[in-house]
Amino acid sequence: MHLNPYGEDVVNLAADLANRRPGDPAELTARCRAAGLALDDATPADLVRTMAALDAWEKIVDADAEHDRAALLNEMLATASAHPRLTNHTGTGWHVHYRDDHQPAGAVLHTLIAVGTAFHLSGRGMHRLHRCAVTECLTIFADTSRTGRQRYCSQRCANRDAVRRHRAQAAKTAG
Ligand SMILES: [Zn+2]
Ligand SMILES: [Zn+2]
Repeated sequence: MHLNPYGEDVVNLAADLANRRPGDPAELTARCRAAGLALDDATPADLVRTMAALDAWEKIVDADAEHDRAALLNEMLATASAHPRLTNHTGTGWHVHYRDDHQPAGAVLHTLIAVGTAFHLSGRGMHRLHRCAVTECLTIFADTSRTGRQRYCSQRCANRDAVRRHRAQAAKTAG
């Protein structure tokens, strides 16, 4: 089974890994597989490579201007991806790889995150990658909402901010 790089699974996996960094290679492997990615067992070198990819990815998240965001992502794509090719290596259906065959898990993740993010931003909108608007949260999320105006990582944070704004408004009115 493979994550569809056109879909939202890849950016969601990237956000999950960036928000809560895996502590060891076994955890990295387990969390990728739980997300539906058929990944070889990650080694310590794969974990290091993945952390570097996530560092580069967080800079993309934090880039405000579209051009900066695109330039950073293009850098990541240049180091991570190879020419696209069709493959049916698992026998479960033909799909496109953007990398050479027989890459270690860290390199696979690096490519997948870069390519998946490029499809997400170009397909849904360049602004659709954020940190939560609640300042003490700052959780990263990919906005895959219909309207593209999601501001919070979760309903919990949306509620928290609504309560806070309501209190601030009430204090102003009372004051
Ligand atoms: Zn594949
Ligand atoms: Zn949040």
